[in-house]
Amino acid sequence: MSEPTNLRGNWNYPTSIRFGAGRISELAETCRSLGMSNPLFITDAGLAKLPVVTDTLALLARDGLPCGLFSEIQANPVGKNVEDGVSIYKKGGHDGVIAFGGGSGLDAAKAIALMVGQTRPLFDFEDREDWFTRVDPEGMAPVVAVPTTSGTGSEVGRASVITDESDHTKKIIFHPKMMPAVVIADPGLTVDLPPKITAAVGMDALSHSLEAYCSPFYHPMAQGIALESIRLVKNYLPTAVQDGKNIEARSQMMVASSMGATAFQKGLGAMHSLSHPCGALLNTHHGLTIAIVMPYVLKFNRSAVEDRIVALARYLNLPNPSFDAVLNWILSLREQIGIPHTLDAVGVKEEHIAELAKMAENDPSCGGNPIAVNAENLGKLYKDALAGRL
Ligand SMILES: [Zn+2]
Repeated sequence: MSEPTNLRGNWNYPTSIRFGAGRISELAETCRSLGMSNPLFITDAGLAKLPVVTDTLALLARDGLPCGLFSEIQANPVGKNVEDGVSIYKKGGHDGVIAFGGGSGLDAAKAIALMVGQTRPLFDFEDREDWFTRVDPEGMAPVVAVPTTSGTGSEVGRASVITDESDHTKKIIFHPKMMPAVVIADPGLTVDLPPKITAAVGMDALSHSLEAYCSPFYHPMAQGIALESIRLVKNYLPTAVQDGKNIEARSQMMVASSMGATAFQKGLGAMHSLSHPCGALLNTHHGLTIAIVMPYVLKFNRSAVEDRIVALARYLNLPNPSFDAVLNWILSLREQIGIPHTLDAVGVKEEHIAELAKMAENDPSCGGNPIAVNAENLGKLYKDALAGRL
């Protein structure tokens, strides 16, 4: 089967996605179609200075749509970033949100859109039991999401990960209506991403699909989406890293990223349980941390997932399809795109492990891991990933 060459489309699953290079030109019209006449453009501080933002703002001005700009969002956004955004939104009399960026910008923007019409504080809406029913859905602002990296997939997610400064934990804020109304997925926005970021976020996309694929929950649709997403990462991530201007590779990675986040409603696992505490405590890059721990977790889960990993090896057309074939493919992919093998590369030290393991045990992603995890075996995984013991 040959690959299609016209990489463009209008898709309504899981939400309306306008996909294709150059489609950022449809942003103003998309906002108007949702009733926005004065949206707040929300992105992170690092991105706000780059041409990808200034060019997009110029485009909106050209098309006669005035908007405010809020960019006081740090990597691994915190509750204060959301509060600040809400007050800017109210002061400016805005009527919708353009969520623009990688995971941090998109997650913070979605949380701000949720919070502009609520009376309770943000962390009352953490993804626990039925806490989402505390949200007044009438108070939520409409969102157009524009991803600028290919990894998080937050543009098609119904949740945001926000760090609670009071206890330094990452909390998942969830409501079914946090799914952006429209996504403009323009791979042209990602061509200037440096190779290191492309590699790290691409591995995050892979982990979403791989963990969803391995999770024990029943969700055949997610299972199928995960499988194809992994194939796209295998075929296109190395090119996207080596040749950032390659629009075909950038397009396929952007799709793989949205697919990964669609698939992970089936569940995540210990790759995410181990990475979230590193991000919360040491401010490590999410995708990079995930990429480092990936093979250790896969091997840890071997006895529970061997059959389906062999099926994955066949789908990926690996020679001698087996569990080891997939593990070796991941190891060589990591090497090829410059991912380090041990956690000391992101600043994790032996003395952090006890605290990290305790935090990891309480991470909501644990529930999707195919083998039950606890502070003890998670601590061992941290130690292995620090020493390079695979
Ligand atoms: Zn992730």
